[in-house]
Amino acid sequence: MTDIDENPRPALLELNDAHLARDGVAILRGMSLRIEQGQHTAILGPNGAGKSTLVRLIHRDDYPFAREPGERAPLRLFGRERWNVFELRKHMGIVSGDLQYRFVTDDLTDALDAVLAGFFSSQVIDVGMIVTRAQRMAAMKALERLGAAHLAHRRLPTLSTGEARRVLIARALAHDPGALLLDEPTTGLDFVAQRTLLETLRTLAHAGTTLVLVTHHLEEILPEIEHVIVLRGGRVFASGNKRDVLCAGILSEAYGAPIRVQERGGYYHAHIESRDG
Ligand code: ADP
Ligand code: MG
Repeated sequence: MTDIDENPRPALLELNDAHLARDGVAILRGMSLRIEQGQHTAILGPNGAGKSTLVRLIHRDDYPFAREPGERAPLRLFGRERWNVFELRKHMGIVSGDLQYRFVTDDLTDALDAVLAGFFSSQVIDVGMIVTRAQRMAAMKALERLGAAHLAHRRLPTLSTGEARRVLIARALAHDPGALLLDEPTTGLDFVAQRTLLETLRTLAHAGTTLVLVTHHLEEILPEIEHVIVLRGGRVFASGNKRDVLCAGILSEAYGAPIRVQERGGYYHAHIESRDG
């Protein structure tokens, strides 16, 4: 028996009327959504919509609550309500700004160790952790894939934002998780690295890794991603097939600006309409 629910294909992520408040401020206000395993998904929404908060829920940095006690669990991952982050990591790699911040302030760990520590769901390689040759090779391969092999022996605080981002993505990928959750992964990457990352994600999607991509950029919604969720004000504003959701009406209302959408070769582009049309 595995540690994933016996149901053959439970949803990767399920939120049922999830609420969350921080410092007395309501941040998630009844968020309900469902992402199936294998269903590559993009999550969009204006600043403050709750996207990173959703990532924090999945990473178990925050815990949502149901409005009424006894209601359906507000959050399920792979069909289960309770996970610890160590178990979850085997199934899902996560890349986010919060995580990156934790790494870049660690003065003792080098890039290769940060990737290797991922095999132990740890931030550092500690005494007693036995790193196998296969793990070391997989870690180097992941760094190479991100064009970051030359950074292997650099300490994390000495890396630029984009370099640290590549290392963090390598860490998320090194053990081939079934799903990858990426919160604005191209932030800080130069345009060549951005393109390389997006191509890497496409390859992973074809190889069977489910992508959940939080992004501000419509052009990052890869052709493989069919499912789009738009958040606004701590709730789901729209969700469905990208052809239906990525339209001028929905995006203009979600962002509160007149947005035009164009589709070219499987990629979408958004433009704000100028006042004179
Ligand atoms: P985004 O969609 O831009 O990633 P976030 O999930 O980071 O948005 O934040 C959602 C909202 O929660 C934002 O409006 C943010 O200002 C607010 N927020 C986050 N933490 C706190 C806090 N400790 N107190 C009050 N508001 C907060
Ligand atoms: Mg965010």
